[in-house]
Amino acid sequence: SPSIVWFRDDLRLTDNPALRAALDRDEPIVALYLLDEESDGVREIGGAARWWLHGSLTSLGERVSERGGSLVLRRGKAAEVVPALVEEVGAGAVFWNRRYGGVEREIDAGIKEKLRDDGVTVASFAANLLYEPWTVRTQSDKPYGVYSPFARAVQKLPAPRPPMPEARKIPGFDGSVDGDDLGAWGLLPTKPDWAGGLRETWEPGEPAAKARLKEFLDDDLGDYSKYRDEFAGGATSNLSPRLRWGELSPYQVWHDTLEHRGSGQHAQSASGFLSELVWREFAWHVTYHSPDIATVNWRRTFDAFPWPELDRSHLETWQQGKTGVAVVDAGMRQLWHTGVMHNRVRMVTASFLIKNLLIDWRHGEQWFWDCLVDADAASNPFNWQWVAGSGADAAPYFRVFNPDTQRKKFDPHDAYVKEWAPEYLGENPPEPMVDLGETRKRALDAYSHVRHGG
Ligand code: FAD
Repeated sequence: SPSIVWFRDDLRLTDNPALRAALDRDEPIVALYLLDEESDGVREIGGAARWWLHGSLTSLGERVSERGGSLVLRRGKAAEVVPALVEEVGAGAVFWNRRYGGVEREIDAGIKEKLRDDGVTVASFAANLLYEPWTVRTQSDKPYGVYSPFARAVQKLPAPRPPMPEARKIPGFDGSVDGDDLGAWGLLPTKPDWAGGLRETWEPGEPAAKARLKEFLDDDLGDYSKYRDEFAGGATSNLSPRLRWGELSPYQVWHDTLEHRGSGQHAQSASGFLSELVWREFAWHVTYHSPDIATVNWRRTFDAFPWPELDRSHLETWQQGKTGVAVVDAGMRQLWHTGVMHNRVRMVTASFLIKNLLIDWRHGEQWFWDCLVDADAASNPFNWQWVAGSGADAAPYFRVFNPDTQRKKFDPHDAYVKEWAPEYLGENPPEPMVDLGETRKRALDAYSHVRHGG
């Protein structure tokens, strides 16, 4: 009886334990990807992320075919589609790699239970995080809410396992099994086609992901610590969409980085880079324990924050990159064009929206969700809340980033502003839409309404 491998956030053939388990079972394999926009509570994938998904599925489908199998595309409620496919093909086993969102876990648990009751073998695997969120506990057996102790705790856990080799052959299923045509899912924008910048910037899929990892480790790792905060220059890995869609696993990135670690400044850079992967782990750890992180303040004391009524025109001015503040506008345009934004600029633009415009972080989170190719159900809301001051952060004060100071420090030669907002370098640069000093004071006043609990 065939095995079904249900692909989700793991669009890869290397280091894919679910696929490996199916290969070990030595029966024909039906590879499934399911677009589930119908189950209660699942968050609709954002626009740029849909574009990425289309490209990554195209690549995965080709690679599965080249190896003898075929990728079946279905759409609908997972709790219905997966058991129906099991019955249709007479599958004896279903394998998947775990997801960690609250709704997704419930869906998966329900399917597992149903299929097992029907006598089908079901197994799920750790593949997309280095540390299962429930395994990292404080001494008083609680989840962590602060990064540094979390990072120390994971260091004491067994080292991440080595990655598994690429699947070279995927034994196909002889029977007929229908699937959707990817084009019919409408993942690509048409009227208007706003994805030109994404196409210029990215090539979704596992081969390009592997190539970028190699290039980064061979050429750029040594300078990572020195230049990672600079807005221009591309000193960081750009692996975030690869990790988001699982074109690479964190195990591959972790082990390959250790192999390139070297010594001296290189080693320091490697550690700095690995600690960013641990931030990703921490975001998922927090999200696993607070699954409503995209909608609810992680610190409930923050519910007392007196947001003024939403000024939609201010929100739109920010979205369009027309705030009159150079770094903010440059960042928002980089986001629109490329589907990513430099990490520090994400912090500056988020801080500007929340603190200087006093717009609720959820509006910014939703815009990023829609525009980012790396839009991640943990990292995005986690970082928005971190900037807002409502999130998992040790800092007992509210920082308001000063965009001009940030620009002087991290774009000293104006390379970033020149690329994305060159009008600021002309004779009459635009004026800020609000006074930075006054709005900063207003924000601190508003923040004084919130008492930080533990
Ligand atoms: P590198 O510096 O090369 O880091 C390597 C990897 O570490 C990244 O690919 C990413 O997977 C992980 N990482 C780095 N920084 C963080 C972080 N602060 N939190 C969690 N993981 C991190 N990252 C996302 O992947 N998806 C998001 O939706 C997302 N939204 C964000 C929203 C805001 C407001 C902010 C401030 C940050 C957000 N980040 C998000 C984190 C970070 O900005 C990006 O991961 C990073 O810019 C990606 O570039 P890189 O791959 O070159 O990073």
